[in-house]
Amino acid sequence: MSFLGTTCARCSEDFAPHEASSTCPACHANLDVRVELPADARAQIEASADRSMWRYAPLLPVDAPSPEDGTLTTVGGTPLFMAPALAKRLGLGQVWIKDEGREPTGSLKDRASAVVVQRARALGESRIITASTGNAGVALAAMAQAAGLEAIILVPESAPAAKLAQLQIFGARLFLVRGSYDDAFDLATEASAELGIYCRNTGTNPFTVEGKKTVSFELAEQLGWRVPDAIVVSVGDGNILTGVHKGLKDLLGAGLIARMPRLYGVQARGSSPIAQAFFAGSDEVPEVEAATVADSISAGRPSDGWRALRAARETGGAFVVVEDEAILRSIAELGRDAAVFAEPAAAAAHAGLVKLAAEGTLTQGDEVALLITGTGLKDVGAAARAAGASPPTIEKSLDALSSALTERS
Ligand SMILES: *Cc1c(COP(=O)(O)O)cnc(C)c1O
Ligand SMILES: [Zn+2]
Repeated sequence: MSFLGTTCARCSEDFAPHEASSTCPACHANLDVRVELPADARAQIEASADRSMWRYAPLLPVDAPSPEDGTLTTVGGTPLFMAPALAKRLGLGQVWIKDEGREPTGSLKDRASAVVVQRARALGESRIITASTGNAGVALAAMAQAAGLEAIILVPESAPAAKLAQLQIFGARLFLVRGSYDDAFDLATEASAELGIYCRNTGTNPFTVEGKKTVSFELAEQLGWRVPDAIVVSVGDGNILTGVHKGLKDLLGAGLIARMPRLYGVQARGSSPIAQAFFAGSDEVPEVEAATVADSISAGRPSDGWRALRAARETGGAFVVVEDEAILRSIAELGRDAAVFAEPAAAAAHAGLVKLAAEGTLTQGDEVALLITGTGLKDVGAAARAAGASPPTIEKSLDALSSALTERS
């Protein structure tokens, strides 16, 4: 644990640890957390027997949880594996899949909520509120339960059924807000200020990035303290891309990696304001009416757009926009070529990879990591649409089965 304070991402003003707890008091931009990067970070990490994200505690601004903290101790440690069939189909040197669907609640959001909950405990808070399209809320509900905090979750009415069910199971106070994710976001911010409830809102809480950055730590360590040429990440608010970037910057600063990969952000056509700013060469992210099948990246007024632009620009990466049909097709293609089950927002990264390969931005010379940010079990309706025709029903006889098998081939 080595929390040194925060620095405004835009006006570069420095704040001491207790000076600023959400956005910059001067310009309202999001704050980057400063952590100490110990000279022996690698030795400390490699000496840890912990396989969870907490093995990276020497590079985090919060303490690791205690062994009695249940699910909170199990976040991270997700597998990284090669997807040669996928690489071959796209004509790429290699594709690595980092499967965040295998987090305790099924999405990368567990990493952010775990760190934010540890921060809330350090501050002596007992209640914590967040707006969410679903996954961040589920993750907070679970991590708050483990930490003995009360979680208050605000989601748009339209959240998929599986996410709502999961939210109700972890004992949080759950409210469906009549409106969009952006409306829920504003309500959580207001409730935090007026009712004095600690707020996890993505991006405006500086600690969400500190959790999400651990996916980069893990990726690099799993590759033997090496990075691929490119990392492809789906983008809604832009906080995961910012977290991936921060993790890599920390690793570079600590001397654990020698270079930066290029970072590519993927947005759905119906929710692509950050990509639009990127293409326009602008720093101002426009506001849009968000509409996409990929609910986890449906954010019309992204809460971390500027830092996401910075991640792509500083690393020589880019943004790419994909259609909903390509996202649904990607769910099936990831299943067929890599045996991974992705929710639509996670499959969007694959749709982006397909486009980057087709336009020649990524080629045979590139080793690419694809972040699969959430499991397909989060939205089985979308998976069923992606699968297409329903399977045939047969009589309970070997004859029926063998003739059906012959028919197929
Ligand atoms: C939250 C989320 C994203 C996007 O993360 P942002 O920080 O909003 O850009 C992508 N995929 C899944 C599954 C998510 O839950
Ligand atoms: Zn500022």
